[in-house]
Order: sequence, then C-alpha cells, then structure tokens
Amino acid sequence: MNVDLDLVRKFNVPGPRYTSYPPATHFSEDFEQTDWDAHIAANNEGAERDLSLYFHLPFCESLCWFCGCTTVITTVQDKSRVYLDYLEKEMDLMGEKIHADRQVAQLHLGGGTPTFLTAEEILRLGKMVQSRFKIRPDLEAGVEVDPRRLTEEKVQALAEVGFNRASMGVQDNDPRVQEAIHRIQPFEMTAQTVQWVRDYGFESVNIDLIYGLPHQTVKSFEKTLDEVLSLQPDRFAVFSYAHVPWIKPAQKILTDDILPSAEVKLELLKLTIEKLNANGYRYIGMDHFSREEDELTVAQQEKTLQRNFQGYSTKGGVDIYSYGMSSISQAEDIYWQNKKELPDYYADLDAGRLPLSKAYILTAEDGIRRQTIMRLMCDLELDYAAMSELLGLDFEKHFAVELASLDDLEVDGVVERQAGKLVVTDLGRLFIRIIAMRFDEYLIAGKKGRFSQAI
Ligand code: SF4
Repeated sequence: MNVDLDLVRKFNVPGPRYTSYPPATHFSEDFEQTDWDAHIAANNEGAERDLSLYFHLPFCESLCWFCGCTTVITTVQDKSRVYLDYLEKEMDLMGEKIHADRQVAQLHLGGGTPTFLTAEEILRLGKMVQSRFKIRPDLEAGVEVDPRRLTEEKVQALAEVGFNRASMGVQDNDPRVQEAIHRIQPFEMTAQTVQWVRDYGFESVNIDLIYGLPHQTVKSFEKTLDEVLSLQPDRFAVFSYAHVPWIKPAQKILTDDILPSAEVKLELLKLTIEKLNANGYRYIGMDHFSREEDELTVAQQEKTLQRNFQGYSTKGGVDIYSYGMSSISQAEDIYWQNKKELPDYYADLDAGRLPLSKAYILTAEDGIRRQTIMRLMCDLELDYAAMSELLGLDFEKHFAVELASLDDLEVDGVVERQAGKLVVTDLGRLFIRIIAMRFDEYLIAGKKGRFSQAI
C-alpha cells in the first residue's frame, strides 16, 4: 500500500474510533435504573448469546507520560488483593442477573496493568471466573502483559487459567524516547516476554507501538520496527500518540519542542504501513495489522470480523459484560459504564449496589447505524442487498443522503460506488474513520464531541 501524505493531511480531522456507536461521549448518568434492569433482564431471557467478559485491572507501578488509559498508580501490592475482593462482589451481584447457562466465548484482562497482579492473584481471578461461568472449550482468552515487571511465574499462572493470547506494549525501543515517556523497557525484556508466552503455549502475540512520541525520527522508528519484526508477532497495533492534555494532564510534560512535527509524524505512519505490509502484515484498519494467515485477516476476508470495545474480534453475537472500575459493557441494545474512580466503585459495592455510572439505550436508528458502521469498518465494503437483509430495510433508500454525500471521497480515491455496493479502496483503509463518520447521525446533526486527531 502506498501512503499518500497529502490525503492523510487532508483527512487528519478529529473523530470517534467507533468502538461503540454512538461513541461513549453519548453515555449519560441520567438514566433510569428500572430501564437498565429491564434491558438486562431481556438480554438474559435465554442462554443463546455467548458472553465476552472483560476485567479492568487499573494498577500500574509508574505512569507512562503518554498514557490515555484509566489507571491507578501505586507500588502497594496489597491494593490488587483488595481490588480482587471487590471484583468478586461485583461478579456475585451481576451473576444474579446473568442467565446461568450462558457460555463464555471470550475473556479479556485489560488495564492499567493486569500483570500487576501476583501469580497467586492471577490464579485466584481465573478461578473466580471458572467457578461462576460456563466456559466454552474454544475460549479466546487475552491478556495485556507489561514486559517490564513480568515474571515467568506470572506467565505460567496465566496459562494455567486458560489465557492463550497476549498483547504487550512496546511503544518504541529507543532509549531516548523511553526516557522521555517515562517507560524504560529494553528490547531484551520484550524478547524475553515473547519467548515466555510462546513457551507456555499462547497462540497469538500482539505488539503495541506508538508513533508521534518525543524524539522519534524515521530512522529511530525504523530500527524499532526492525527489532520487533524479528520477534514475528502475529499482530501489531500501531497507534498515533493522542495528545489530549486537557484530559490527561501528565501529557503536558510532552512539550512541542520534543514532539515530532506533524510532517515527521506522517512520515512515521507511512513508514510503518509500508514496512509492515512488506513483511507480510495486512492492514485490517484502525491501526491494526495482522499476518495473512491470522484469524483476524481470515475473518475480514470472510466478512465475519467484529469490532467492539476491545478493538477487532472474531466473535460475533456476544454480549460484553465488563467488571472493574470504569469498565464499559455492551449488550444488544444497551451500553453501560462503571464508576470511574476507585473510591466510588468500592462505595457502591460496599452498599451492595452495582457500581453503575452511565448508560445509553440505543434507539432503533442507532442500532441500524451501529451495524452499518461496524460492517463498513470490518468488511471494508457495504453490499446493499446484504445490508438490506441484515437490517430489514431498503438500505439504499434509508441511506440515500449519506451515499449521495460521498462524491468527494470517491474523487479522492477513498471509496468506490460500484453497482450494488460501496467499496473502501486499499487507500481508503487508512481513512476508514472518515468514511464511517458520514454514517454517524449525530455528527451529521452537528452534535460533535471533542475527539483526538485521527493521526
Ligand atoms: S503501563 Fe500502560 S496503562 Fe500503565 S501507565 Fe503505562 S501505558 Fe498507561
């Protein structure tokens, strides 16, 4: 894929990432508990739909200056023991509402740093899940591991409770960049982590990188890419550094004089895409790359790829029930989010209440647009007949205005309106969020949130 920098410049506008539709900025504290109860009860009338469980483990021993995640910085190990007690309370309260025969198809530990937990705590969390849920034999169980404080014992514990996919943050191997972002992680540490997870039978390894960090140059980042490519991970997620100091004050440390210019940042993106492509990785879309034979690539070709809060996934028809502070859940027609601060999360559970903070109940139109945006981002095309059947309406008629508004994108070679379908070109993969925004009713209506730049 050749990356056209002029187009990247043109389309580098703020926009949602569409891990949900509508985006989480629409979730509201102003919801009726009775409505939430009714939707959860309806979602659990039967056991046909599988579950995807997410656990947010917020603790990190030190803050990386670029971080945009919801974290609690501490070196007090006992905090995670206490947190597991509360996760257990939450699981028990929620367990009363979930149909006992539903099966878990997917499990994910995110953070923060899930491997802040000791090996014993990892085993305890695994058993907490196994003793409360029916687990599918083909469970996809992923965990975000931090190579900096990982031990072989922790990897062994993760494998013992069924984890089979690992994702690790690398960001950049250059010592100067690492010092500037407050994250020292020599390449050998990353290599050791990959070795351990492979030794313990993990089937898939993902590496996260970030471009746009302080002191990065094309030459330095190429070295990082060469080094991590030598580890042959199955997937890469390469994110643009999102500078949002109004949300994350620690980012104020990353001042303009050390951040790469917009031009260099674009060159880094171009380098990344071209180099990963040349090494056998397919650009799935939205910062994600996977090997040709990887299940994500195959799912995209077979049009079974899904997109949700955990990014891309191969599991469709599942509801995401999430646990832990700030975690977001998604069932058929409802999203909800837990309290964002640890004391509030604990206080609700101490009072015997679920720690709900916000919710959003989808309208019928939201549901139509959620499906449309998801299929566009996953399949990289919209087949009008297939979409009409999926949504139970005349797709071309329903989206006549949106489809007619794509002239400029077609001229730029981002999309093609062919007979009976809209196709995202190879080049258009880079701008998938721009295309999706054309189907976002709230953006069309001018109700914009404040989002980071695309690149
Ligand atoms: S380890 Fe990850 S979650 Fe924790 S501060 Fe660093 S980037 Fe953020």
